[in-house]
Amino acid sequence: MTITTNDLHSRISALMPQAHTDLAALVACQSVADPRQFPASECDKAARLVIDKFTEAGLRDMRLEPTPDGHPAVFGHIPAPGGAPTVLLYCHYDVQPPLDPDGTAWKTPVFQLTERDGRWYGRGAADCKGNIVVHLTALRALQGSLPVGIKLIAEGSEEQGTGGLEAFVPAHADLLRADSIIVADTGNFAAGVPTLTTALRGLANVVVTVSTLENAMHSGMFGGPAPDALLALTRMLATLRDADGNTTIQGLGSDGTWRGVDYPPEQFRADAHLLPGVDLLGSGSVADMLWARPAVTVLGIDCQPVVGSSPAIPAQVRARVSLRVPPGMDAKHAQDALVAHLRAVTPWHANVQIERETPGQPFAASSDGPAYAAMSHALEQAYGRPITTEGQGGSIPLCNVLHETFPNAEIMLNGVEEPRCMIHSPNESVDPSEIEHMALAEALFLTNYPT
Ligand SMILES: [Zn+2]
Repeated sequence: MTITTNDLHSRISALMPQAHTDLAALVACQSVADPRQFPASECDKAARLVIDKFTEAGLRDMRLEPTPDGHPAVFGHIPAPGGAPTVLLYCHYDVQPPLDPDGTAWKTPVFQLTERDGRWYGRGAADCKGNIVVHLTALRALQGSLPVGIKLIAEGSEEQGTGGLEAFVPAHADLLRADSIIVADTGNFAAGVPTLTTALRGLANVVVTVSTLENAMHSGMFGGPAPDALLALTRMLATLRDADGNTTIQGLGSDGTWRGVDYPPEQFRADAHLLPGVDLLGSGSVADMLWARPAVTVLGIDCQPVVGSSPAIPAQVRARVSLRVPPGMDAKHAQDALVAHLRAVTPWHANVQIERETPGQPFAASSDGPAYAAMSHALEQAYGRPITTEGQGGSIPLCNVLHETFPNAEIMLNGVEEPRCMIHSPNESVDPSEIEHMALAEALFLTNYPT
């Protein structure tokens, strides 16, 4: 191989007008994978475009692969030269709907890539069509001189959560098998700060129902000795956080630390829209509290609303309690601990019923293999500064499926979806320099990974 970093740099720069053309064509497809909102032909159009563009970039056998939720994935590949590893590239070609019921929230046309103040606006410009273009631009730059095998899988219904690809992966393990996997559906901590997402939180929710009386009883006649179900429930819920706001579930460690990016408290206050003067929670750093420790939240309570309430003692109430679970903690075990805790703190022998929602396991990306080392180096070369790591609040169930199906493959999460992209919101945009840097990083990775 004789491609130098400088060669790649100039090839990627020269490809940026092409990247704009590619992204504009993709954004013009209204590929919301819900036929009640947009015609299915729009998703077909996006899928065909992915097939055509990656065929141009040298991939073979590009085709639609049906999945059980009815939304096909796009697959294609380039076989590995003898003995070389294979890299699976993931992205999705469906997008979120405009989320603009009055048609006033978007400042530029939703499905027309539009430049404003140096950013490119349009639904899917970052999530995930910007990442499709990163893969495409890296492959165009290396066309004819790839030292590795490539497999591409572009999902057609990621934003719907209908699980088509999650069912497809284990059933087609041989088709997708690879030595390392780039899940390009996240982004840097900020534009210009090369970041790998190494942790996704899991989820262990329960619904707890507390009953104390057969019916609501007059509070004047019975209030005092008769137990109030809502007070019982709120006493229980209050034990889930201590005075500093640390999550305090019996049997669950709450002292993990995050080794990656330092999330400045002032920035977090602004990002989370905290009201002035209200405290941030917990005794750890923002990153510790976000990505390394369990976090409990009360999502909802069913009880008498204020308007329409009468002087009656509540007899039965319920709450939905969410528990976010950091990597390294088993979600099922965390849910068991939450259930046992709630039972143990129940006051007054109130009756308690607890329903468990299906837990979702957290995910820890690999961070010690040759692909991770090559990707770190590539990102550092592309951005000219050291990489950092962050976690992400939501889970990506596909990552767990990929890990279970290919336990030896290194899985890396990155992409162009930095915070200013406002993915899923109106006025989604992408920073074109992130596309350029990430494409260069991916091209450098694909060049250097095998050695
Ligand atoms: Zn996405």
